[in-house]
Amino acid sequence: MAEETIFSKIIRKEIPADIIYKDDLVTAFRDINPQAPTHILIIPNKVIPTVRDVTADDEAAMGRLFTVAAQIAREEGVSDDGYRLIVNCGDHGGQEVYHIHMHLVGGRRLGRMLPQT
Ligand code: AMP
Repeated sequence: MAEETIFSKIIRKEIPADIIYKDDLVTAFRDINPQAPTHILIIPNKVIPTVRDVTADDEAAMGRLFTVAAQIAREEGVSDDGYRLIVNCGDHGGQEVYHIHMHLVGGRRLGRMLPQT
């Protein structure tokens, strides 16, 4: 069994979060430290720590992350101008919370994908 993080508590509504969507597979809520006018996290309800841990059994939930991201982007009014979906994995990926999550970031021009080194 993978270890739970603060995101499991958000799914179970044990701690407050601005949840904007929930279904049988995924939950979406606003990032507590937004990096852009729209910054939403979409997560599977099942604890999957990282992309490294995804299996074929998770394909429905992983696909749902994308369909829900596209729907939320439309609802937030950022779809036409475009936005970015980010999934960080592990230490070098800059992952802080080990419950896989997709960042939906938009509402401004985001610039280059990676800082230049
Ligand atoms: P990552 O670096 O990809 O693991 O991103 C983790 C994200 O979770 C960060 O953008 C944090 O601001 C966000 N975060 C951490 N705790 C919370 C929380 N309690 N509610 C909403 N977002 C959170």
